[in-house]
Amino acid sequence: MEKLILEIVDGRQVNEDEVLKLFDFDIEELFLAATKLRKKYKGNKVKICSIINAKSGQCSEDCKFCAQSAHHKTSVNVYPLVSNEKIEEVSNKALENAGCFGIVSSGNNLTDEEIDRLCDLLQKHKKADHFGASVGHLSDESLLKLKNAGLKKLHHNLETSESFFPNICTTHSYEERKDTIKRAKALGYEICSGGLFGMGESVKDRVELAFTLKDLGADSVPMNFLMPVKGTALENVVPLMPTEILKTIAVFRIILQTPDIMICGGREINLRDLQSMIFYAGANGTMSGGYLTTWGRDPQADKQMIKDLGLEIDPHR
Ligand code: SF4
Repeated sequence: MEKLILEIVDGRQVNEDEVLKLFDFDIEELFLAATKLRKKYKGNKVKICSIINAKSGQCSEDCKFCAQSAHHKTSVNVYPLVSNEKIEEVSNKALENAGCFGIVSSGNNLTDEEIDRLCDLLQKHKKADHFGASVGHLSDESLLKLKNAGLKKLHHNLETSESFFPNICTTHSYEERKDTIKRAKALGYEICSGGLFGMGESVKDRVELAFTLKDLGADSVPMNFLMPVKGTALENVVPLMPTEILKTIAVFRIILQTPDIMICGGREINLRDLQSMIFYAGANGTMSGGYLTTWGRDPQADKQMIKDLGLEIDPHR
């Protein structure tokens, strides 16, 4: 057994140079350290979250992976912000299986009218404290309005490292993304922020992202794995191997230690038969029931997988 793994299991935190070496270790050794940390901080509990793509397509931003960018020619559905009735209907169904429900919209921001509409929904919804929102860049005023309406969790992915971000998006800056997170954190929001892997970034970029999320105090870290979409700039990227995905999850648990680590888009397609191993790699949650523009698994199948592993579903956010 590598000395570094034994030290991690013993509770020593590692620096960036040490972490890079972990990618060369056997996956079983990383599973040992990551499972130990998951159990230490999360016990036997696993979280399930679910989302609605509440506003789709025609985004002015040029994120190279995204089927919803107007810079790409994809066959994604395009529609404006759906009605509050529709969000309520989908959320009520989703929260039968999930502990957290995310309202996700395309675009780098919502209009004042759209923010007011979401505030109205949150004020009236009995389970508003289970809601998160992923609605792009937000002013202090909009953040406050949503918070006063009952929103507890703000989702805003960094997507990748600051060093690699210019390869992925040129229409807004990494600083802008971090700024939204910092201001939301200062206002008392729980922060849900993670990234997308398999876009051509290096292992060093992944480690850099994990340390940035740690510095920002992310409470929950969603990890997505690229499913190349025809018509996007990344349509020909070769997907990551399942073992590389699992090692990346384990390294995130080792760096981040305490936050929730949620495995989201790309789980089923990229991990295939190895998807139940996300929990041995240190994840303590997953998204179920479908993603923004791609299919997901039936939540009942995910619940069965969790039960079969001897884990319990956490009914709370
Ligand atoms: S990731 Fe978000 S901001 Fe970027 S193109 Fe897609 S919808 Fe727009």
